[in-house]
Amino acid sequence: MSDCLFCRIVAGELPAKVLYQDDDVMAFHDINPQAPLHALIIPRKHIATLAELPEEDTALAGKLFQVAKKLAAEQGYAESGYRVIMNCGKHGGQVVYHIHLHLLAGKQLHGL
Ligand code: AMP
Ligand code: ZN
Repeated sequence: MSDCLFCRIVAGELPAKVLYQDDDVMAFHDINPQAPLHALIIPRKHIATLAELPEEDTALAGKLFQVAKKLAAEQGYAESGYRVIMNCGKHGGQVVYHIHLHLLAGKQLHGL
């Protein structure tokens, strides 16, 4: 998936400010942060959208949330709270077609 931006970050071909990584998951700062903490949490494996998440990757998807929780706590946002979002497809506002959780923290968020 050399044409996928996030696969290129996983491969080390593009720079990222990495916050966390293990064999399955990477987290890095969003290049255009919408909150004091705006991290993206992605599987190393290329999965284009939530709509294409294979049944057998259910645990992998769950791990993204575990990493979000861990990062939020590490950065001191466990008590103040935070938002975790995944956009899916055109109307969902997805721009990068490699699934990712947005973790937003550090300010009061409103609405959806
Ligand atoms: P989405 O709209 O859910 O697909 O979100 C894509 C996110 O990726 C946006 O918040 C972008 O700011 C972010 N983004 C795009 N390119 C990069 C990059 N090279 N490094 C980090 N974040 C990026
Ligand atoms: Zn990819």
